[in-house]
Amino acid sequence: MDATPVHPSWLGDPSSTRDVMYRLLIDGPMSRSALAERLGLSAASLSRVTKPLLASGELREVPGRHVGPTGRPTQPLEVDASQHRFIGVKVTGNHAYAALVNLRADVLESEDAPIRAKDPDSVIAVLTSLAENLQRRGGAASGLGVCLGGQVREDGSVGYAPFLEWENVPFGERLRDATSLPVAVANDLNALTLIEHWHGAGRGVENLVILTIGAGVGYGLVINNQLINDVNAGLGQVGHTPLDPTGPACSLGHRGCANVVLSIRNIEAQAAVSLGRSVPYERLMKLAAKDPVARQVVDQAAFSLGRLMTIASAFTMPQKIVLTGEGVGLAVAAPDAVRAGRAHDREKHTPAVPLEIVEVSHTHWARGAAIAAMQLPAPPQAADRIPATIGGSTTPVH
Ligand SMILES: [Zn+2]
Repeated sequence: MDATPVHPSWLGDPSSTRDVMYRLLIDGPMSRSALAERLGLSAASLSRVTKPLLASGELREVPGRHVGPTGRPTQPLEVDASQHRFIGVKVTGNHAYAALVNLRADVLESEDAPIRAKDPDSVIAVLTSLAENLQRRGGAASGLGVCLGGQVREDGSVGYAPFLEWENVPFGERLRDATSLPVAVANDLNALTLIEHWHGAGRGVENLVILTIGAGVGYGLVINNQLINDVNAGLGQVGHTPLDPTGPACSLGHRGCANVVLSIRNIEAQAAVSLGRSVPYERLMKLAAKDPVARQVVDQAAFSLGRLMTIASAFTMPQKIVLTGEGVGLAVAAPDAVRAGRAHDREKHTPAVPLEIVEVSHTHWARGAAIAAMQLPAPPQAADRIPATIGGSTTPVH
């Protein structure tokens, strides 16, 4: 690794510069007039911002001949994504998945490592080594983003992370000291929401809901292209939404709350009782196609999942719902029951919000963490004003 990583350029950019870059990164290449309109800038102001970026090569004109909506020739602008690299890491209770990405969050290099001891020093040592390896192979990074399940405070400290058994750990600060990189710490659902919104199934969707099912239930929200972030986002309140009055109770005593009726563990437990033998989750989803008892267990959970989608839509009015997570096979195995659950609580004149089911890898979450690092604010001395971040959600540690 280079002894003095060259990273300040991107993070030192004034906000108007980064507004232009963000827009082009999220929306893809567009003409100067479209870009000016999108950002509310005059042609002259836009030109002042883009000129140095074109000169430095960070921005470039898309080669070839292009015709705009009015039939006139136009020369769209695009970001040269290779100008900056970022590292993103997803940390679970026992593993770290890291990726070095370019500005478009394309994966250039990836590496993962087990977390054998959960104390902060050991985890930081694993992440530091991953960051060094990735930079040695792929070049110096401009920032490091880490996402984990739990409560992440604005200063990058972790209030509570159940899978790591952490409480009040000044994680971002210590990781920055260990790696000498600017560090962003994000709740993992926020990181996932960022990558889906910028480059995934939620691209171009102004108001978006992300739901995940697996070990528990996760929820991410984008309103007006802004990730809605809150220090309590990682505490999993949505998981306690009551869905099935006949369901078993969660650890807080809620009968049939989402955490229980939609968790892989509980669905497997229900199936074991009904079938008289234990069947792993993925096999159970397949078994539902031919065994009526398995079908009933799967349909009941899928119906509850549909209800949760309708509740989320009713309160937040998204244009799209993206469903993902380890347990997503439920919605694939029982689409009719999901549909019935969605219809059950919906006012009959409201159309169902479009749903997309996506399967994502751990590296995908890591890409989202890298976007959190891209959104770190410019250091105060380099900024002309506080940048208006589009995802809006990162946790700066400078
Ligand atoms: Zn509960």
